[in-house]
Amino acid sequence: MKGIIIKTTGSQYQVGFEDRLVNCRIKGTFKIMGIDTTNPLAAGDWVHFDLADDGTGLIYAIEERKNYIIRKSVKLSKQSQILACNLDAAALVVTPAYPKTSTGFIDRFLATAEAYHIYAYLIFNKSDLFKHEKDRGILDEMINIYQPLGYDCIEVSALTNNSLEKITEKLHDRVTLIAGHSGVGKTSLINAIEPGYNLKINPISVQHKKGVHTTTFAEMHKLKSGGYIIDSPGIREFGTFDFVKEEISHYFIEMLPLIHSCKFNNCLHEHEARCAVKAAVETGAIHPSRYYNYLSILHNEDIFR
Ligand code: GDP
Ligand code: ZN
Repeated sequence: MKGIIIKTTGSQYQVGFEDRLVNCRIKGTFKIMGIDTTNPLAAGDWVHFDLADDGTGLIYAIEERKNYIIRKSVKLSKQSQILACNLDAAALVVTPAYPKTSTGFIDRFLATAEAYHIYAYLIFNKSDLFKHEKDRGILDEMINIYQPLGYDCIEVSALTNNSLEKITEKLHDRVTLIAGHSGVGKTSLINAIEPGYNLKINPISVQHKKGVHTTTFAEMHKLKSGGYIIDSPGIREFGTFDFVKEEISHYFIEMLPLIHSCKFNNCLHEHEARCAVKAAVETGAIHPSRYYNYLSILHNEDIFR
């Protein structure tokens, strides 16, 4: 039998199988794909299991992962924790104000998704608050940065239910990680899409325990409309991809096609001569805000605010 891991708690695994949840354990131990992790299985893993007479399951195999999000367990250790895997999409819920989501935050999210090879898009919530000229301007300004790059920008309101069907469509039959600052309306949106759902999103808890060995694994929630939502790894976990300086520009999709035109093949697109990326910033082909945020990731600045 084949199912998907919904939740892990210690050595127990909740596996979604058809319309049921089966409590499973792992049969013996098995090493997976050479990754040195503290947890062999994570939410999103497709597993094969045998069903025992008492209704519990025994997992004996795991399917190859198409992607996974990971974090280092302890700074100096080589061991890592897989937070979730087999994501089909990552959606960032954004509000240009009330509360403000910075473009720095958005760009780190998008670059991380690119690095993990996960399809990413932006949900601009609270559109009801951006109806009037001045406010409309800050929303349009943001959408004008990301839409031309090919990132889908969905404008919605959880309050007035405006355009929510666009999100339902996106979530359908996908495993989607939903991220975004506290207060942007993640819970409201999901409740509006899936009435009575009452999702408990708690992405902040991880950051208080920084450095401590925590077991805040992701958990999946099945949608009645088909598909799964992942919460709880929190954006800090998603956004802390271990970028190699020379590779950051590979994850800025408008920079990637240019980097081979730079004079130096290890160009960081900062002070180097004959840099194709800087030239594109000067002509306006690359948006200045994207370039500045690229530089902040390069300098490892905290742009989470
Ligand atoms: P979360 O922290 O991202 O889960 O955000 P919540 O869903 O808890 O929403 C935070 C606040 O924003 C609540 O007071 C919501 O009522 C409000 N809110 C959520 N969506 C909208 C919206 O589309 N328009 C307006 N005006 N307020 C919203
Ligand atoms: Zn360059």
